[in-house]
Amino acid sequence: MNIHDSEKVIGTLAQQGYSQVETPEEAGLVLYNTCSIRDKAEQKVFNRLQNFKKVAGKGKVFGVLGCVAQQEGEKIFDKAPHVSLVVGSASYTKLGEMLVQIENGERRVTGLSLDTEETFDTPFTRRDNPNRAYITIIEGCDKSCAYCVVPFTRGPERSRTSESVMAEAGRLAEQGFTEIQLLGQNVNSYQDPSPAGWDFATMLSKVASVPGIRRVRYTTSHPRDFVKRIMDAMDENPVLCDHVHLPVQSGSSRVLAAMDRLYTRDEYMRRIDWIKSAKRKYSITTDIIVGFPGETDEDFQKTLDLLDEVQYDSLFSFKYSPRPKTAALEMADKVSEEDKQQRLLVLQEKQRAIQIRRNAELIGDIQEVLVEGRHASLGQWIGRTSSNRTLNFTHPDVGDESLMGKYLPVRVTRSGPNSLVGESATVV
Ligand code: SAM
Ligand code: SF4
Repeated sequence: MNIHDSEKVIGTLAQQGYSQVETPEEAGLVLYNTCSIRDKAEQKVFNRLQNFKKVAGKGKVFGVLGCVAQQEGEKIFDKAPHVSLVVGSASYTKLGEMLVQIENGERRVTGLSLDTEETFDTPFTRRDNPNRAYITIIEGCDKSCAYCVVPFTRGPERSRTSESVMAEAGRLAEQGFTEIQLLGQNVNSYQDPSPAGWDFATMLSKVASVPGIRRVRYTTSHPRDFVKRIMDAMDENPVLCDHVHLPVQSGSSRVLAAMDRLYTRDEYMRRIDWIKSAKRKYSITTDIIVGFPGETDEDFQKTLDLLDEVQYDSLFSFKYSPRPKTAALEMADKVSEEDKQQRLLVLQEKQRAIQIRRNAELIGDIQEVLVEGRHASLGQWIGRTSSNRTLNFTHPDVGDESLMGKYLPVRVTRSGPNSLVGESATVV
């Protein structure tokens, strides 16, 4: 989502006559897009801003964008006095005007309003990936998970009209993009504000039917809003990729309740059953937080058991990180840093073993990949499967750039915990 926000900012500024340079040294304006989901990400921002100070030349303007900007606001000017612009994501449409204020001599400009009705819907997005295009369909979040800063940094949910999403998808297909990824903090709570009134399942089917689009992905879905209709829509149209990312956070219903996640383990497992009993085989991935306040060894064990039960294809795991304004800040029974670290290691080790096993089961299969790059030194192309696995493969035309962006059948010959290796195959 941050990558796509940066694409929108770059596109908007390019439209206004700015051009992008390679390094902060060369730049007259340095914009730093930030994430504050965990404390570590936030600390990185301030370290990086200190480093920027070294390149601060005469007249060089520094701006901080994104969630740290929204969260810290004008305090950033105190911590990093060389910064003159602080703008949260809900105010990006006004970025151009704010830069004019700076050009006119204002030293400190902020854009921190969250009560905007606008979604950041810009026609001037610059897209770096030649095959995959991101489309934001919903901004913000109306849930209130006890650990999460997103509702404070991204504001309330605002869905884009289906008409504007479809117009963008159509334009992208005409420009030659073949894969679309629909984005939102809670992408599946999408609700079309126009009279057409599409829900997320309808949106998926419609985007998948745009001529020229061969793959559609989406991220991130909240289990509470993951209704059966979504699975039915996916099963009906193979353009909708063989992958569901469904963040669970914990395997313990007690911890899920404390997190205010709005589902129990059993309710989550019902969704997993829908995915597993679907017509096609889907890869299932998740997010897990270890060490939420009050998480006991027994709770953590339930998370490990969940891994055994679901057999995820991959997961993102995080140590709980206290965030400003969130309900969990006040909770008792904090888990020590040591225990969090230990639980993270145990979790990752278990998942690694699961991935080794699951990926090995794919040896011999033929999978269609989208060619995304190549390792020239290894003589391999880099492909991505519909299930979102990296499949590096050899091809008789290894020296030929023309494979980029193509969809090719590849036979899996080897596997590791995080990727597959194969060779070009012709389907008989
Ligand atoms: N909306 C998505 C959902 O409800 O699952 C999650 C979006 S959040 C940007 C991505 C992930 O960051 C979450 O799924 C969670 O695992 C992790 N995360 C969020 N806040 C965190 C915190 N305070 N400490 C550790 N991990 C956190
Ligand atoms: Fe954060 Fe996702 Fe919960 Fe919203 S639903 S508060 S984005 S974790």
